[in-house]
Amino acid sequence: MPKTLWDHLPAKQYLAAQEQHLVRFIREMIYPYSPYYRELLDYNRIKPGVIKTVKDLSCIPFTTKADIAPLPEDPDIPFSLVLQPTPERMKETGLSLRMKQRGMKLTRGRKGYAAAMDREFLPIHYHFTIGRTALPTPVLYTQYDLLRMGECGRRLFELLELKREDLVINAFPFAPHLAFWMTYFAAEAAGVPALHTGGGRILGTHRILDALERLKGTALTATPSYAYHLLRLAASEGRDFSSLHTLIMGGDRLPAGLKGKIQELLGKVGAEKAAVASTYGFTEGRVAWSECRPSALSKEESSGYHLFPDMEIIEIIDPDSGSRLSEGEDGELVYTSLEWRGSVLLRFRTGDLIKGGLDYSPCPFCGRSLPRLGLEITRTSEYKEFELTKLKGTLVDLNAFYPLLSGHKDVLEWQLEIRKHNDDPYDLDELYLHVAPAEGMSKRYLEKELQELLQREIEVAPTRIVFHSLPRLLHKLGLDTKGRERRFVDLRPGAAGRSMSEEEEPEPQESMDFEGIPEEEPHAEGCADDDLLDED
Ligand SMILES: [Zn+2]
Repeated sequence: MPKTLWDHLPAKQYLAAQEQHLVRFIREMIYPYSPYYRELLDYNRIKPGVIKTVKDLSCIPFTTKADIAPLPEDPDIPFSLVLQPTPERMKETGLSLRMKQRGMKLTRGRKGYAAAMDREFLPIHYHFTIGRTALPTPVLYTQYDLLRMGECGRRLFELLELKREDLVINAFPFAPHLAFWMTYFAAEAAGVPALHTGGGRILGTHRILDALERLKGTALTATPSYAYHLLRLAASEGRDFSSLHTLIMGGDRLPAGLKGKIQELLGKVGAEKAAVASTYGFTEGRVAWSECRPSALSKEESSGYHLFPDMEIIEIIDPDSGSRLSEGEDGELVYTSLEWRGSVLLRFRTGDLIKGGLDYSPCPFCGRSLPRLGLEITRTSEYKEFELTKLKGTLVDLNAFYPLLSGHKDVLEWQLEIRKHNDDPYDLDELYLHVAPAEGMSKRYLEKELQELLQREIEVAPTRIVFHSLPRLLHKLGLDTKGRERRFVDLRPGAAGRSMSEEEEPEPQESMDFEGIPEEEPHAEGCADDDLLDED
C-alpha cells in the first residue's frame, strides 16, 4: 500500500508536530473561543501561554463526563464546550490568525468571509451520549469537523485495505451515534460504495442478509453481537457470503472468544478468509480507531488501535492518582482534541482502562509509525454506575460478564437481569442469567459450568440461570427490533426496566413491556427447565 503523510512520520517527528499544534490550538482557539475552558483556566489562574509542551497539559484539571453532562437546572452546559468566535474574542487571538482573517475578508468579501466562518464554526451535526444517571450529552460537529471525521474514516478504510470496488453493508443502528455516521462519512470520503441499512430495526435482518448475499457485499460494519446474530442466521439458512472479506466491529468490545465464534461462522458461509477488525471510539472523541488489516486477520495477536496523532492527544494516567504514565503502562485513557471545532475537550477522562496503554513503536503488522493503543479495554464508567454493592457483599463488574459469556462456546446468546429480591428496594440484589445454550448441550452440565466459571472469574454466581430457546432469547435481547441489544436489564424498583447499553437510544415506552415478572419466571428451582426450551 502506498504510504501517505499521515502514517509514516517517525514518532519523534509527529510528537514534536503534535506539541506545536497543541500549544497554538490552546492559545488561538480554545482559550479565546471556548466559554467552558476559558472559565476553567481563568478560575485555576492558568495563562494559556504557560502550556508550552504536551507535558504542561498536566497543569490543566481533568474534564469528566459529569462536568459536561447537562443538568435539569442548567441544560446548556455541553454547549459551552463549543468554540464560539465572537467579534470581541476574535480581537484577542494571535496576530497571525488576525492577519489570516483580514486576508479572507479582503479576498472573499464580507459574505464569503461569513460563509467560511460558518463552515468552520457553525455546528450542523449532533451526536448524543445517553447517560444513565445524567441527561444525554450532545457532541457537536461543524462542516469543518465532518470533513475531518470523513478523513479519519478514509484512513480507517485504508488501514483495512478497502477499495473503490468494495461494497460496504453498514448494519450499525441508525441513530445520532458515532458508529453509524463514522461509517457513512468514511464511505463518502473514501469513495467506497455503501448501503447504509440502519440496522435490523430499520431495514430488517433478512433484508440485510439478502443485501450481503445478492449485492455481494464485501465489507460489513456492525456491533459484534449483531454481526454474530447475522452470521448465525446466514449459516443456518445456508447462505453464500463468499464475497465478504472484511468485518468492521464497532460500538462494543469484541472479546477474543466472540471473535473466534464469528470466524467459525464465517467459515460456514464461505468467507473463511475474512478479516475481523476491532475498532474503538467514544462519542466525545468524535472518531473511531481501528487495528490494521494484517492484525484483523490474525487469530492470536493484535496490533492494537492505530491512532491519528494529528487529530488528538492521548494520555494514559493512573486512575487513582491522576498522574501521567509512561509508554506501555496500563491506565485510564485521557483525551484532548487537536484542531477540531464544535465541541472541543481538554483532558477528558474517558473512564476506559487500557491494558498495555500506548505504544509508539512501528506496528509489527503493517509497519506504520502511528501511535497504537492496547486492544484490551474495560470501561470503568459503567462499573461505577452499576456496581452491585449488596450482592453477597461483593462488588460486581458487569462488563466482566461480556467476554466470559459472549466468548463461551456453548452459549449462543445470553442476557443478564438484575432485580431486587421480592421486588423490595431494600432487599438483596439478585442476578438472573438468561441463556440460550448450544444445540445438544446438557443444560444441567452447562448450568454447573457457568456457575463455576462466573464464581471463579468474577467471584459472583447468578442467583438463577434460566434457559431459553434461541428465538425467545433473541426476542428478549431485541437484536432485530431495538436499536441496541438489551444485554443487561435492570428491573430493580426505580430502574424502569432500563437496559444498560451505553449508546442506546431512549425507548421509555417500549422497554416497559419487559418490566415486572417476565414470562420465563422460573418455576421454583427450575433453572434448567427443559420445557422452557420447547416453547418456541
Ligand atoms: Zn498496523
